[in-house]
Amino acid sequence: MERDATWPLFRLVIPAFPEVNIFSRVAKKTTALGPVMVATAASKLWGWRVEVIDENNCTGAPLDENGFPDHRALQAERPADVVGFYCGLSSTIDRVWRLAAFYRAEGATTIAGGWHTHYAPEESLRKGIDIVVHGDGEMVIRRVLELLRDGKTIGQVCGISFLDSQGACKTNPPETQDETYLNSLPYPDFGLLRFATIKIYPIGRIRGCSRKCEFCSVKGKPRWASGQFLFDQVRWLVETRKARSFFIVDDRLEEDRKGALFFFEKIAHAYGRSLDFTVQARLEAAEDQELLTAMRKAGVSVTCIGYESPIDEELQDMRKGYSSRDMLRWTNMYHRLGFLIHAMFIWGYPSKNISASRLGPQERTRRFHRFIRKARLDTVQILRAIPLIGTELRARLEKENRLFSLDAVPWEKYDGSYVCFQPDDMSLRELQEMPTKLMKKFYDPMSFIRIALKTVAFPFDYLVRGWDTWHRSWRNELRKYGGHLFIKGWLKRYHKDNFIEKIEKMHRLRDR
Ligand code: SF4
Repeated sequence: MERDATWPLFRLVIPAFPEVNIFSRVAKKTTALGPVMVATAASKLWGWRVEVIDENNCTGAPLDENGFPDHRALQAERPADVVGFYCGLSSTIDRVWRLAAFYRAEGATTIAGGWHTHYAPEESLRKGIDIVVHGDGEMVIRRVLELLRDGKTIGQVCGISFLDSQGACKTNPPETQDETYLNSLPYPDFGLLRFATIKIYPIGRIRGCSRKCEFCSVKGKPRWASGQFLFDQVRWLVETRKARSFFIVDDRLEEDRKGALFFFEKIAHAYGRSLDFTVQARLEAAEDQELLTAMRKAGVSVTCIGYESPIDEELQDMRKGYSSRDMLRWTNMYHRLGFLIHAMFIWGYPSKNISASRLGPQERTRRFHRFIRKARLDTVQILRAIPLIGTELRARLEKENRLFSLDAVPWEKYDGSYVCFQPDDMSLRELQEMPTKLMKKFYDPMSFIRIALKTVAFPFDYLVRGWDTWHRSWRNELRKYGGHLFIKGWLKRYHKDNFIEKIEKMHRLRDR
């Protein structure tokens, strides 16, 4: 026991969202897969204790005066020697820096990994992070922890950035992993999470994406583990944790069609539809009816699809790879097989060729509204374009001098709810307010009445249209009312903050 207490502790922190957002509710039931994978790899090292704190799913943890997990109390209970931070979301990076400063003052080594720090390592190295990890983190973290435990320097480790003795940022490129890498990873150990309740298990097998959407930070040649590997992972989670509900985090599950088909057919054979899967796929994957049918037979209920826009010029600027012509037809193909669609849109995408796309905000809104109504989407998310670090969109806006400075719009506003750049074909206020208006139209308060009506009509509706159709429409009304309450709460906080007034004032001063 004494020996155990002297073993060093590696604590991996998934930072809290800066404010309640559309992901907050689901975040309380799930977690991020990447950090759990890194923690699992680290936990296989002899001589280290490992734990994960997901600040967005943390019931029962000691809290500080702001309602966030109290890291001072966690340190007092069991001090971490090395603290890792998940930096996949730019909007949480300010919290990472605050925590890193605290842990550094406590004498811990701080490590960061994820898309944000991958693209901007120096920024975080100058804000309290000692080591930034690039690429696949599982092997890198093991190497770093071994060296730190033995008191050796980490300067030669591949796939990290750090400040050298002169204070210059040094980056060692990541090692190229051979094709067996993803198949040889351990299963994610969700038991390492403290205070979290996991109801939806994130799983995955594909990394990278072959598409080149301008706004997306997912880069790199796609690689994947086999469909069998993913199946084994599911079986293990069902057996060891009684898992029933899964979110497949792969950005495009059809990237490896053969593996996907194998996986879903095997799941259908072993479990029928008794498990529930949510997936992410491209809209045009609807053409692959064999794959879609296999998905439905395996219990895939919700498909999250990045529609982005029903406007051709915008789709072209985004390099989405299709036009609006077939979007309704593809949507109907998903619906006919019984999928629920969570559709993600970007409103007011900054155009490349202003004269070609000067539709005006009203016309854009009208087109979005018409499309959403016609497509009969189950749930929608309409955000502003986020010029994420590492994307071509950010580089373009930077070149055009349209990005707001981080003093005016800090990283914590980079969640799609706030304008981060100067639009050139509408006012700032229009870009800020139109997407919310569209969301309010979809998530309307009348859904409350419709829930009641549909509940009363259940016996008749059930007999006429059957359980699936009734339940789907009832569930959608419930979601709509939940969405309405969320938007109402968000708007209250937003108006208090005077965000758009501050940005407008800053602009007036700049333009004087
Ligand atoms: S948005 Fe989706 S399809 Fe496009 S590059 Fe990113 S991950 Fe790939």
